[in-house]
Amino acid sequence: MSKSSTKELNFRQSVDLMFNRAASFTDISPKMIEKIRVCNATYTVRFGVKLRGDIHTFVGYRSVHSEHREPVKGGIRYSLDVNQDEVEALAALMTFKTALVEVPFGGSKGGLCINPKDWSEEELERITRRFTFELARRDLIHPSLNVPAPDMGTGEREMAWMMDEYRRLNNTDINVIACVTGKPVHLSGIRGRVEATGRGVQYALREFFRHADDKKKAGLRGDLDGKKVIVQGLGNVGYHAAKFVAEEDGAKVITVIEREGVVHNPKGIKIEDLKQHMLSGEPLSDFKGGKVTDPDPKAIEGACDILIPAAMEGVINVENAHNIKAKLIIEAANGPVTAKADKILRDKGVFIIPDLYANAGGVTVSYFEWVKNIGHIRFGRMQRRNQEAKNRELVDALEAQGGIKFSRKFKSEFIEGASEVDLVRAGLDDTMRFAYGSIKEALDNKPELEDMRTAAFYRSISAVALSYQSIGL
Ligand code: GLU
Repeated sequence: MSKSSTKELNFRQSVDLMFNRAASFTDISPKMIEKIRVCNATYTVRFGVKLRGDIHTFVGYRSVHSEHREPVKGGIRYSLDVNQDEVEALAALMTFKTALVEVPFGGSKGGLCINPKDWSEEELERITRRFTFELARRDLIHPSLNVPAPDMGTGEREMAWMMDEYRRLNNTDINVIACVTGKPVHLSGIRGRVEATGRGVQYALREFFRHADDKKKAGLRGDLDGKKVIVQGLGNVGYHAAKFVAEEDGAKVITVIEREGVVHNPKGIKIEDLKQHMLSGEPLSDFKGGKVTDPDPKAIEGACDILIPAAMEGVINVENAHNIKAKLIIEAANGPVTAKADKILRDKGVFIIPDLYANAGGVTVSYFEWVKNIGHIRFGRMQRRNQEAKNRELVDALEAQGGIKFSRKFKSEFIEGASEVDLVRAGLDDTMRFAYGSIKEALDNKPELEDMRTAAFYRSISAVALSYQSIGL
């Protein structure tokens, strides 16, 4: 292999390359393609917070990639790796992700260059509130313009602080609670949001296994039951995805790759036990539910059916792509496969379910939360008991005919009206199935798109172009 072809691109260049490949199959004018590709604006803020008797300066970003729909949407990550290029690449992915799953938002992303572990909870709150204040001053957090959400290193706690800080500044706005999503349920969040990205990964996998042609391409058969899975990263997304496919679909998670080490168990790791162990603060090496070895970059190359990279971008790259043994990679993280690795894997026949589809569950349920917030009512509140009464009437009437006697279990499951979390799951499942279908449709109409990633980008670019064209751009 020549030297230049082994040189890796950065994340932003990688996303651009994937974008360009898909754009080349459209008949959209090059000028419009350029408009869609570039990030509209990136705001960098450096702010000081007095902590531990000294002033500490923090660097944060909020990038708006595309405002063809508003509000723009995307998480805020806390990590020392945060930089402008990364935030812009992630914002671009948000535009294409939301367009693909028909969530009516533009794309945005934010980041704060910080290791949350370096600070106490109280300090983090002060830093977060100050960052929120800086964003709010420029409408970069706003229920109708820009709605952040959790990402790596942030969660419900940070969203609660952000919402509260924004509320202090805008206490007459009736929609103030819709300024961020991913809030705790007791603070106007929605049930099912915490696990939404992992749940979406599970639904995407189930949908893949419903398509015989895709299974054939990947060299897989049957369904998720018994499939050997490697998960890289047991954070919020990796944990939920692994837990659901193992506990509900019978998949065998044989390896979990974490920063502190690698856990192996050919019989299948009990994900809940491992997560509880990790949360307990005990060393990973003390975990009894599998063999624990030292951190090993080669672990991602292990033999398995399905590889779920669920942590950082760029973990599958020119260095290791040739050695990857998984038949199917589902990108639970954003950008885990570089553009160059993507080409190597495609040539090897590895089937990839791309990030902009695979991890869209988070933003999809964020959309439901936002709708709930501006509607000021929990989903199902008006219908649930009405539905229950009708179902009960039907069951009673059928039993009264004689001859039929339903089991108690069937009755209780059938009669019960849909709760908020039932509706969130149904809406998410529908979204994941629909978007898979729309990628497949693009591939059927244009076989030269070849792979799911290119087809997904193709669909999204076409949708964004249509929005711009309709407003005369
Ligand atoms: N941070 C998540 C993502 O990358 C969720 C974004 C959101 O809910 O707005 O998709």
